Amino acid sequence: MERDKWRCEECGWVGHRSEVLEAPNPFDPTGCVWGCPNCLDVNTLNVACEHPGCEREASCGAPGPEAYDWTCYEHTNPIVLRARDAGEVRPAAGPKEG
Ligand SMILES: [Zn+2]
Ligand SMILES: [Zn+2]
Repeated sequence: MERDKWRCEECGWVGHRSEVLEAPNPFDPTGCVWGCPNCLDVNTLNVACEHPGCEREASCGAPGPEAYDWTCYEHTNPIVLRARDAGEVRPAAGPKEG
């Protein structure tokens, strides 16, 4: 949970990391499971667009001026998009499986 803004794909809840429910993973003592504080479902949280007021799921990751930004397509920095289209910026790697 490195990002601050999260969205529940089950109920559409969007909120700060501090509101997300956290519990030890019963299958992996070194890990945690994350729960939605609204619908109480587990493992339904995705990174949300970091644009203030936007509640879309983040679909684009790109290096921003200060940190790596996650935004929906509409709020992706156009300069970053152009650079990426030109092959100057490598697209974000997805979450690791397994
Ligand atoms: Zn939810
Ligand atoms: Zn957005």
